[in-house]
Amino acid sequence: EPLLFNSETDNCSMKKEVFGNGITNIHVNGKDISVADTPNGFQMERHMKREFPVVVAGKGNYLHLSDGRKILDATSGAAVSCLGHGDQRVIDAITRQLTSGTPYLCSSYWSSDVAQELCKELIAGTDKKMSRVYLSGSGSEAMEAALKLSRQYFFEKDKASPRVNFIAREGSYHGNTIGALGVSGHLARRAPYEPFLMNVHQVSACYAYRQRHDGESDESFVARKADELEAKFQELGPETVIAFICEPVVGAALGCVPYVPGYLRAMREVCHRHGALLILDEVMSGMGRCGTLHVWQDEGIAPDLQTIAKGLGGGYQPIAAVLISEKVMKALYNGSGAFVHGQTYQGMPVQAAAALEVQRINRKDNLIENVRVQGALLEKTLKELLGDHPNVGDIRGKGLFWGLEFVRDKATKEPFDPKLQVAQQVHDTAISEPFNMTMYPGTGTMDGVRGDHIILAPTYISTAEDIKHIANTAAAAVNQVFAKLS
Ligand code: PLP
Repeated sequence: EPLLFNSETDNCSMKKEVFGNGITNIHVNGKDISVADTPNGFQMERHMKREFPVVVAGKGNYLHLSDGRKILDATSGAAVSCLGHGDQRVIDAITRQLTSGTPYLCSSYWSSDVAQELCKELIAGTDKKMSRVYLSGSGSEAMEAALKLSRQYFFEKDKASPRVNFIAREGSYHGNTIGALGVSGHLARRAPYEPFLMNVHQVSACYAYRQRHDGESDESFVARKADELEAKFQELGPETVIAFICEPVVGAALGCVPYVPGYLRAMREVCHRHGALLILDEVMSGMGRCGTLHVWQDEGIAPDLQTIAKGLGGGYQPIAAVLISEKVMKALYNGSGAFVHGQTYQGMPVQAAAALEVQRINRKDNLIENVRVQGALLEKTLKELLGDHPNVGDIRGKGLFWGLEFVRDKATKEPFDPKLQVAQQVHDTAISEPFNMTMYPGTGTMDGVRGDHIILAPTYISTAEDIKHIANTAAAAVNQVFAKLS
């Protein structure tokens, strides 16, 4: 059996005998569903025994495997490798930092030029809408820091602050640590670890495919969402709410579900009306992935706190950050003046050198413009090839971040039986001969238990030829899987 114990958030998890926490059912749409009947339940055993393909090298858009095969990485890993693999400029920046700069510094006492430069670059990228950068090592850690900062913001202003509640969304994923998973709405990922520690309350996601009424305009759909958030504030007591947390474009949990125009602005209005903060999690959707450096820039608003990660270091180093608004910083300055937090591997010069070079390349090579151009082509080609497919219910996304949602019946949007593991089948087929391409699978799309999707998230260096190849290969793999199923 393999010695490397990989986690697989979507595909493994729970068997009550393994976790022994007594969680056997999760409650979905008024029904108790046995955990053993979820896609996670099915895949536990398969996952634990599985040998993963071994990658020996990565170059550009391709992964090279130990069996000699070459795999087109159409997902940039988990929407991370925005520059592709093995970019010599980033490797050189890391090497320079390791050989002639400082490889490690304890960030509680020291700083480095390169970390300062990175922060300057990041703040400039927000058009100075955000004013400070808190560096960390992963998206989950950044979320933890953002949650603590938001809570501290209120206690700095009023030691007796009644603000103890968070409002987050169904069908969301914010990380795997207890705090970050505690505010995540992805049922199957949460279930084995219930109960969580914090006061978290949920509202529905902004999921037009399954929630928009026939003929409903963007304005009325958004107004419905704002009313729902307002009602949640009223139910909890508006003076008790710390923050509303959302992914502007939902990644792994729902498969690239973008906000409906006007939604982020409307949510921000509700939060600010009640003095609560808006936290945007752009760990997966940010740093250019959706066609603007930050997704909120497309909506013309700014959050109070924002997390970024994957495209920040492009996979060359583990690095994430919280971008902090002036409003939150001021409360800290005027209050205790300290954020009692920190981790050993945080703000490391070598991490900063990698991220700085990745961001400079993005800017110098005008890659976010390429994301917009190639993203439009990917959308058009996917819709041409799969728009009429009877089992492709929805094709949605933004920039180079696209999801396909699979359904058994297109008219009723009825999903497949989770036992069929449709998304996993598409993934397994795509990475096999003759397709040799990654497609990122996800389950629980409809209600946390039922529903399948896959994500495509090509690199920002993709050419029109690459994009057409990706769309054609995706369509061929999808056609093959559903031809077998029907
Ligand atoms: N937030 C979002 C939106 C994510 O997609 C992820 C990871 O996929 C995280 C947070 C957690 O990031 P990490 O896996 O780096 O801890």
